[in-house]
Amino acid sequence: MPDSTYPEPVSINEKAAPAYRTLLDIISSVEPRIAEATRAELHDQRHSLKLIASENYASLPVLATMGTWFSDKYAEGTIGHRFYAGCQNVDTVEAVAAEHACELFGADHAYVQPHSGIDANLTAYWSILAHHVEMPALAEFGSRTVNDLSQEDWDTLRHRFNDQRAIGMSLDAGGHLTHGFRPNISGKMFNQRSYGTDPTTGLLDYAKVRELALEFKPLIIVAGYSAYPRRVNFAKMREIADEIGAVLMVDMAHFAGLVAGKVFTGDEDPVPHAQVVTTTTHKSLRGPRGGMVLVTKEYADDVDRGCPMVLGGPLGHVMAAKAVALAEARTQTFRDYAQKVADNAKALAEGLMSRGVKLVTNGTDNHINLLDVTASFGLTGRQAESALLDSGIVTNRNSIPADPNGAWYTSGVRIGTPALTSRGFGAEEFDRVAALIVEALKATTPRTASSGKPGKAKYVMADGVADRVHAEADELVGNFPLYPGLEL
Ligand code: PLP
Repeated sequence: MPDSTYPEPVSINEKAAPAYRTLLDIISSVEPRIAEATRAELHDQRHSLKLIASENYASLPVLATMGTWFSDKYAEGTIGHRFYAGCQNVDTVEAVAAEHACELFGADHAYVQPHSGIDANLTAYWSILAHHVEMPALAEFGSRTVNDLSQEDWDTLRHRFNDQRAIGMSLDAGGHLTHGFRPNISGKMFNQRSYGTDPTTGLLDYAKVRELALEFKPLIIVAGYSAYPRRVNFAKMREIADEIGAVLMVDMAHFAGLVAGKVFTGDEDPVPHAQVVTTTTHKSLRGPRGGMVLVTKEYADDVDRGCPMVLGGPLGHVMAAKAVALAEARTQTFRDYAQKVADNAKALAEGLMSRGVKLVTNGTDNHINLLDVTASFGLTGRQAESALLDSGIVTNRNSIPADPNGAWYTSGVRIGTPALTSRGFGAEEFDRVAALIVEALKATTPRTASSGKPGKAKYVMADGVADRVHAEADELVGNFPLYPGLEL
């Protein structure tokens, strides 16, 4: 069995194995189905090619830290200023996590309570509004609940907040729902417009962002993405924000690991340039599921009011795990890992393009590859995602710019390298991954659904291909065991 260089040596996993076995037995004595599902999840994660760009494998120290009695403690408020007694140990946990976050990212202030990326963004929006806008009294919406408010009601509400505006990257260019789109509260709180990418190159067009900013004069410019395969120049984005007196908020949820690992530095590091930076802790950063907000000192008091303003009580056990993950991210080992994530994404891009696959922007310089499967294979994203899953390859469908198939079926498949890089994959393995993807998708043909609508995830694969690719994928991951030595 190869010794894992990351996340932890095999010896740690071996030591942890009896403890995990005992814990699973204890869980089983109360609800055996949960113990079984937990074992099954480990089995499934061990035996699939996990290419979902937002997923990773946290280390056992991070996972173990989440299973403690900090889960039982209420601690609304902030360090040293809680609405509950007896929070001295949660104070320690939150302070250590915030200290690591500030040192790792060079931030003035870190708020480590958000339970997720969406919560981090909501906290950030509220903090910016609280800092910049006087809130007049809200009333006059009768007995209706907020869910019943019509778009006109929201428009009225927004006007009470002086019609605050925000701009963010459009969804089909790779932005996230929380960057001002209707299914998320940000699309209701703000009068929102979006900026896209250049239709020819697929790259972010800073001149167009500036044009929109000058015309629309938003309070907030949101930068960051979920599916854009390139780096962003945050110095340029800050220049645009400064020109109109806007706040630059960067959502680095996807690439926080590349910032922490010093792959993105200078103009590509958002922290020196943005007043507010939000992130998740579980994607490329490899921590527990959760969020964080990093701010300049002017916003520190506002962001610290996140709970109970917009967040539920802090999860002490998860903040503790964030502290452990951030301590890991401060090591040279993590820096090497982050560099490999980016190198592997390039190797994967080359492997795909050399086999005739069209990639949005013709390549990558972060951790994401966005395949145009309609142009490359005549499939919708949904068909390709399903065919790949049948072949043991886990990806997700994604819109591409100006997507002809819409946001549900899509024309794209998004692929990321953070998880398999954690297992030890290098350029050679990612070239094999590219070959397997192409083999599976070349053998897939669309079938029109009886309704006559194209796409409905209906497809046929040539006989035996899914099984053959699945077997090869299994062999490939088998060479890089997940948590080696952790035998349950
Ligand atoms: N921000 C970005 C850029 C994301 O990609 C995501 C999730 O995919 C989120 C925020 C939301 O994170 P969470 O699922 O933790 O709420």
